[in-house]
Amino acid sequence: MSSSTPVTGTATVVGGGPSGLMAAEVLAAAGLQVDVYEHMPSVGRKLLLAGRSGLNLTHSEPLDRLVERYGSAALVRDAVQAFSPAQLRAWCTELGEATYVGSSGRVFPTSLRATPLLRAWLARLQLQGVRMHVRHRWLGWATTPDGAIDPQRHRFQPAAGPGVIAGSDVTVFALGGASWPRVGSDGGWVPHFRAAGLDVRALRPANCGALVHWTEHFAEQFAGVPLKNVALGAGGEMVRGDAMVTATGLESGPVYMLSATIRNEIDRNGACDLTVDLHPDLALATVQQRLTQRRPKESQATALRRCLGLSPVAVSLMREATGNRLPTDPAALARLVKCLPLAVHSTAPIERAISSAGGLALAELDDHFMVRRLPGTFVAGEMLDWDAPTGGYLLQASFSTAVAAARGAIVWRDGAAAAPPSAH
Ligand SMILES: Cc1cc2nc3c(=O)[nH]c(=O)nc-3n(C[C@H](O)[C@H](O)[C@H](O)COP(=O)(O)OP(=O)(O)OC[C@H]3O[C@@H](n4cnc5c(N)ncnc54)[C@H](O)[C@@H]3O)c2cc1C
Repeated sequence: MSSSTPVTGTATVVGGGPSGLMAAEVLAAAGLQVDVYEHMPSVGRKLLLAGRSGLNLTHSEPLDRLVERYGSAALVRDAVQAFSPAQLRAWCTELGEATYVGSSGRVFPTSLRATPLLRAWLARLQLQGVRMHVRHRWLGWATTPDGAIDPQRHRFQPAAGPGVIAGSDVTVFALGGASWPRVGSDGGWVPHFRAAGLDVRALRPANCGALVHWTEHFAEQFAGVPLKNVALGAGGEMVRGDAMVTATGLESGPVYMLSATIRNEIDRNGACDLTVDLHPDLALATVQQRLTQRRPKESQATALRRCLGLSPVAVSLMREATGNRLPTDPAALARLVKCLPLAVHSTAPIERAISSAGGLALAELDDHFMVRRLPGTFVAGEMLDWDAPTGGYLLQASFSTAVAAARGAIVWRDGAAAAPPSAH
């Protein structure tokens, strides 16, 4: 909404992450006076954190393949179709941040940072007349005199002074999940939504590391060293890429891709057998044949390095997984190279996860992201129960669901405004 646009209604957006800000932009463009409430001292902190690793905004794969990443979450898939990666990239370009496709098909802003994008975006929102209320924590809904929830009136606690109650015609919630709570999303909304009778699935770590009990020696020597070009397997799935050894396990791309499977396996069996193929480009028979070329006085470790080009971290991982008892038989050694078992005892805690699974059940929403039981209340972003791998799919869905929720709010508000006053 610019100063020349007539105000046609009012909207409250709760949560100032990418979803909340996108909802605010769409609502303001439709002429609503928008108030954004954010409990941190500034908005978009997780977006800025994502920017530290290049800000993977979306993915360039064909749309029909891309939407598959959201599994059975049909509502999210529809939202991504309606506000697609192409539209997201065009939006970025309009804000002065052109995008490019990296070698893996992932899409990044050319600056590889979130700061310029967020700065330009906040300037646009200001021009639209969006009012930001930072350091305001949402504490739940206000209640009517008879104790019922008033869906359009909210209780906020500013950093200083007494609490405030604010109301509007429509509300969009975009409070995020519970990963990296120190940048704002701490899942504090969950008990309020549950108390309102809504089905909220437990927030759990997603796109997170896998924890393995390393020996002290291995952890000290190799934490921070990548296992380059490996294939990880769990629950019948296989993912290739570089995995990072940490002091407590493994992290990064392929581990994140498998994290939902690992989590489910641990839920079922108490642990998960992760396999590592240390040379995915060579067939088992070739690995075995190469290992038969071991020289008489050569140690297995040296042979693994010389015959297969395995890195020191890969060889040490084999020692680690076998209690330092590498088999002498080339066939057995080759099988280990191709399928090294690692016992994962847990996924990394939610505080260190890239995203969280769980959240408000999609069944609580109508096709326009409105909470059926709370008319005029819409929900977007990671606080909803959908899950997707890393690769730009998380931000894409956060933006797309926000556009869908804001459009839903506009249509609902127009309908409510046009409805004849009810007879008393
Ligand atoms: C380290 C890291 C790197 C990432 N990199 C990428 C990436 O490259 N690509 C990608 O697609 N995704 C990435 N993600 C995930 C992505 O950042 C999130 O999926 C996305 O930010 C979710 O947006 P959201 O607006 O739904 O929630 P959030 O960004 O979490 O925003 C929610 C907002 O609500 C506020 N809030 C919470 N509770 C309250 C309350 N009670 N009152 C008021 N305000 C409240 C929070 O402070 C926060 O500002 C990354 C995440 C992490 C942690």
